[in-house]
Amino acid sequence: MLNIVLFGPPGAGKGTQSENLIQRFGLIHLSTGDIFRANIKGETELGKLAKKFMEKGELVPDSVTISMLESEVDKHPGAKGFIFDGFPRTSAQASALDAFLLTKSSTINCMLALEVNEEELRTRMLNRARTSGRADDADPGVIQNRIDVYNRETAPVAEYYRLQGKFVGINGLGSVDEISDRLCDAIHASLKSH
Ligand code: ADP
Repeated sequence: MLNIVLFGPPGAGKGTQSENLIQRFGLIHLSTGDIFRANIKGETELGKLAKKFMEKGELVPDSVTISMLESEVDKHPGAKGFIFDGFPRTSAQASALDAFLLTKSSTINCMLALEVNEEELRTRMLNRARTSGRADDADPGVIQNRIDVYNRETAPVAEYYRLQGKFVGINGLGSVDEISDRLCDAIHASLKSH
């Protein structure tokens, strides 16, 4: 299996880049943010719970997020691999993912981390708000909280993968195609080295 964690702050371009990567490598895209938004739209119990956290720019609690992610993976037996987008976002999620993949004799091949400065992130999210309809993109206070939560709780996850020798930093500035080429090169390099 080829399992990739696509990492980076909110607005870094994970969703956009996932689209290209799933086509090129035949992977399943699992975006925890998208799954939560689908649940909110469908007015499920999970959606009602997640909404309370998402509208403030807080993280949905680990226990809920981890079990949701595991059941999504289990919906795709036989998959060639996965792109995890927006997960893991805490150290607890990262170790839960490792333990879960181990039960399937699998592992994360690499973490590709899109690097984008905060000023650019704010601009991108406010632009995206015009078309996405995402309330969490439209409010500068919520955007700032998401960036703060990222720096406090999510950035340390990079260290978790760095210690395993799986971290690859990718310049997230430039055209969509340029960034996509950088990601593909990094995946090919990681496939060769394992
Ligand atoms: P972005 O990365 O642009 O902030 P996402 O769609 O990945 O957007 O996430 C939107 C929101 O969904 C987050 O701010 C958080 O509230 C919730 N969320 C997504 N993934 C996770 C996760 N792995 N753990 C906890 N909360 C999450």
